[in-house]
Parts: sequence; C-alpha cells; structure tokens
Amino acid sequence: STSARIVILGGGAAGMAMANRLSNRLDGARITIVEPRETHHYQPGWTLVASGVWRPEKTMRPNANFVPSGVTWVRQPAVGIDAEQRRVSLADASVLEYDYLVVATGLQLNYHLIDGMSPDLVGTHGIGSVYASIEGATRTRDAIDAWIASGGGKGIFTAAPTPVKCAGAPLKMTFTTLSRLEDTGRRDDFQVDYMSPGAGLFSQPWINDFVKHRFDDQGVNRRHHYRLSAIDPGARQAEFTFVGPDSEFTSHHELREAEFSQEGGRRVIADYDFIHVVPPMSAPDFVRESDLIARDGPFRGEWLDVDIHTMQHNRYPEVFGIGDVIGAPINKTAASVKAQAPVVEANLLAQMQSQPLPARHNGYTSCPMITGIGKAMLVEFGYDNNFDFLPSFPFIDPRDESWAAWVMKDRMLQPAYYAVLEGQA
Ligand code: FAD
Repeated sequence: STSARIVILGGGAAGMAMANRLSNRLDGARITIVEPRETHHYQPGWTLVASGVWRPEKTMRPNANFVPSGVTWVRQPAVGIDAEQRRVSLADASVLEYDYLVVATGLQLNYHLIDGMSPDLVGTHGIGSVYASIEGATRTRDAIDAWIASGGGKGIFTAAPTPVKCAGAPLKMTFTTLSRLEDTGRRDDFQVDYMSPGAGLFSQPWINDFVKHRFDDQGVNRRHHYRLSAIDPGARQAEFTFVGPDSEFTSHHELREAEFSQEGGRRVIADYDFIHVVPPMSAPDFVRESDLIARDGPFRGEWLDVDIHTMQHNRYPEVFGIGDVIGAPINKTAASVKAQAPVVEANLLAQMQSQPLPARHNGYTSCPMITGIGKAMLVEFGYDNNFDFLPSFPFIDPRDESWAAWVMKDRMLQPAYYAVLEGQA
C-alpha cells in the first residue's frame, strides 16, 4: 500500500496501458492521467483507412472505455513540467504535484517546418498525409482516389529527416497506392517517385534491401538525400533540399534546380499531381522546453532523455518515459509500447521501494510491412540484433510476404492493441 501521487502525461496507447497496469498493481496510490481528448484513436488503422480498406469509424473508441475506475482523468492538456519542483502545469493554469511521473505524450507532427504546409491542406490540391489525423487519413484516401480517377500523372511520396512513428508507414502508403495503380490496368500512365532524405529507405538493412528491390521492380523512381522543404499547393510544386554529399547530386531533368538557398543547400523544384507528405517529428514543445529533454547526444533538444533499456529518466529517477516521446534509436510503434509497458511497471514499482530496477526493454519494434493490398510481411527487430528477427508468430516467416500477415494486420492486431491499453497484454 502506498499514498504516492503518480501523474501520467498522455492517455494514448502508452499512457492508458500504464494507468491500467499501475492501478491494478498499486493499492492506495493516487493516480492521475492527463489526456485532453475524449476519443482514443487506433493509429495503426490509419494506413488502412488511407488505402480505402477500412472505414474511419473503425479506428475510434471513447477514452472513457479505457480509463480505469479509481484513476483521476484530467481532461485538458499539460503545458509545462517543472522537474525540479515535481510539478506539472495545465492549460487552465492549475498545477499537479507528483511524486512519480510517467511521460507518455506521444510525439508532435512538425508540418510547420515545411514552408507553405499545414495539416489543414491535407485532402486539398493533391496533398495527402496519413499521419495528420483520422480526418487527414480519410482525406488522403480521397486525394489518392482523385489522382487515380484523373487517369495519370505524377505522384511523389516523401519521408522525414527525423525519427517518425511507424517508420514503415510512408512505405506502406507507397505500396498500397502502387497496388491500386496496378489495378487500373494503366500503371504506365502514372509516375511514382519516392524522395528519401537518407541513403536508405528503412533502418533495418534486410528490409531496406527488400524495399529498394521491390520499388525498382515496381517502377518507383527512388531519389536519395532529398528533404521536402517547401510546398506550393496552388501550383502543385514541391521544393526539396538536397542534403547528401555534393558528389552524389545528379541533376534530373524533371527536378528544376532552384537557386542556392540561404541555408547553403541545393534546392530543386518538382511538379506533382499527388504528393504524400511526411512531416518532421519531435517530442511535443512543452516537453522540449522542460528539464526532461535530452541535453546532448543524438536526441538533444528533440526527445525525452531516458535510459533506453530501463525507461527511467537519465537525470530525474522519479520520472519514466514510454512510447513515441522517448529518445531511442528504434521503437515508436504500438508494438514497442506493448513491450515497454511491463518494463516501466516493474521499474517504477522498484523505484518506489528504493530497489534496483529489475526490468530491461530490448528495443522490440514491429511493423506489419504492407507490401500491397492483401499482402504484408511481419517485420520485428530490437536494439541488439539488428540483423535478426524476433518472431512472435512462428507460423509466419517474417521474410515471406503473405496473406496470413495481411489478415493479422487487418483483423488480429486491433484487438491485441486494445488488450495492451487495458493493461492485460
Ligand atoms: P499516442 O498513442 O499518440 O498517444 C499520445 C497521447 O498523448 C494522445 O492521446 C494525446 O492526446 C496525448 N497528449 C498529447 N499532448 C498532450 C499534452 N500536452 N497533455 C496531455 N496529453 C497529451 N504502430 C504499430 O505497432 N504498428 C503499426 O502498424 C503502426 N502503424 C501506424 C500508422 C500510422 C499512420 C501512425 C500515425 C502510427 C502507427 N503506429 C503503428 C504507431 C503507434 O500508433 C504509436 O507508436 C503509438 O500510438 C504510441 O503510443 P503513445 O502513447 O506513445 O502515443
């Protein structure tokens, strides 16, 4: 029994899982979850919505279904964290004091870092973006429908220069659109370009090779080292900044070279009929402005500073992080949240009893890589075995594209996800 005050920031996949787990385990603790939204969104379903396979309603549930009794639900956003004083400030200027804090705010979509872009544009002027919101995913579907109905032209699929949630989603959107273009019987009337800010397409070498070959086979023009820097919706033009080594810059006749930008980078302008925009992502601003943000290393100023194995904050031992907000080389999937939740639970309980932390997260990340409508591969990996897979479904060979893996994505993962939220899995 304890009377500790535990505050959980964010009630998405990670925060809700922690509210349920901690309220099951702790007798007498005063647990508060801060979550402004009434509706829980099943984001892994958004790629299926944007591909026209699912209805949007299928991805929404009331948050009230998941908040456990006995946990206080504060229905407004947090706006500040004072880790020295152990206080969280809320939008209405009230303050929550805590003994233990779980940061589970998810991440922030930084559309504003692309000049001329805003999430409100999704669905207009041939712009799609599966990440924007459920409305954005639905309007992305409509924009792709309209492009296909127009009978031809050029589609550009982009990727972000930062870590993103579900790193496979920009690729999945390309693959499902290719399926739909092939179904028209007039694939050759459509041009598909994939613009990647890096030399690769995915962090895991095996998947990277697979996708590269598949793109080449399916007639996708891969262009590397291009970051989407601006968009002119009315003109249907996108500006990309070349971020690679100068020796790798080759001019493409379709990419008109713009003048050198003030940043010094080389910029090109590309016309499009449809563009899929993937924004840069970071921890939410109020977390970035707090004491809890990473101060050095690759996540400096952008992501929560936790030990990637114990999930404990590197400087404030009463603070833990979970989900998309943490600075870690991989993760940022709901599947990672499932693996992290028991680790955070065990370690937070140990911290409350001044015991050594018993549990370690192995970086488990998984992503059903949709390779076409009706086809998927279940890819799973972790921190220490980048070249190996961690198969949890031994009957599905992760290197095989299969209908079984698609059915899993289509039918089985959503109930498994809700079980994680309920603290069961
Ligand atoms: P979220 O679930 O995003 O929850 C964050 C919560 O914090 C939200 O409810 C938000 O309202 C709240 N919040 C934000 N700011 C504040 C604030 N200031 N104060 C209080 N609360 C706040 N994962 C997979 O495993 N497999 C997939 O196939 C997959 N596909 C995906 C496809 C897409 C298009 C997207 C967008 C995501 C996908 N994911 C997938 C990723 C998965 O959805 C996330 O990794 C997961 O939701 C992370 O959980 P989280 O709790 O950290 O963040």
